[in-house]
Amino acid sequence: MSGENLQKKSDTPLTDEALPEVKTLNPPEGSPSAEHRDFAARRFVLATDLDGTFLGGSEADRRALYEWIDANRDEVGLIFVTGRDPEFLEELCRGPVPWPDYVVGDVGTTIARMEFSDDEPGQGRVKPIEALEEQIAAIWDDAGPRVREALDGHPGLTLQPTPFRYRVSYDYDPETFDPSAIEIVREIGHDPLISADIFFDVLPRGVSKGPSLLRLLAFLGVPEHKTLAAGDTLNDLSMLDMDVPAVAVGNSEPGLVQRLRDRDTLHRAQAHGAGGILEAIAALGLHPSPPSPRKTAA
Ligand SMILES: [Mg+2]
Repeated sequence: MSGENLQKKSDTPLTDEALPEVKTLNPPEGSPSAEHRDFAARRFVLATDLDGTFLGGSEADRRALYEWIDANRDEVGLIFVTGRDPEFLEELCRGPVPWPDYVVGDVGTTIARMEFSDDEPGQGRVKPIEALEEQIAAIWDDAGPRVREALDGHPGLTLQPTPFRYRVSYDYDPETFDPSAIEIVREIGHDPLISADIFFDVLPRGVSKGPSLLRLLAFLGVPEHKTLAAGDTLNDLSMLDMDVPAVAVGNSEPGLVQRLRDRDTLHRAQAHGAGGILEAIAALGLHPSPPSPRKTAA
């Protein structure tokens, strides 16, 4: 770790001293801040969307990325930043995908730590970080019933059955959609978000993936320049348009690439999904031994 990084590290709220080795930054066993402090000391943090991004691309690229993360777990932090809800995330962790340390779920309206139970091996639990979610709950102000009533039967919108905590989400049909829904949501005081031509989300005003990721990084003391944000659709715009290294993977929604056309610091990947992330880690110099795309037989 360079002196510069140690200096930045010592400026964070979760560490109080600069120490020579990453591993010795860990506080004593059982300290409530143990996991946060370990996380802030990692060399690189991947903050990635799931569908079409971390879970997308060829099987060979996914395997190369997942194996590289597992092999470098002491140095590489993982945050899933997704529209998916906690139930999906807990189920996903039973499979072959690396476990995230933290999750920004529900399109930015859940901010949580991923905990793993000693009693139930392989079972992760999404544990919301109350200090960060308080603000989201306050902005939302239990708007769910108001939003559902105002958009009941609205052309082109079909309510998703999941009872989300701080959002209301619809499946969206661009053919029959009546755009007056956008103004209806704004009048209620919240933000509409259309992405991938299939989702219409109503989010607490000012809350989305990007702002929630930034708040989590600040809370954890992770320097933004050590983070790579990765995504593929318009619900990723707010995190790819921040002042952090970012990649739009090769299969990105055209509207996303268009909105980011002036962003010099964005890596526009050729490869799809996980392959685009592999490409960006190397291209942006985010790790001294980046993963190689498409492993070939030795
Ligand atoms: Mg996606």
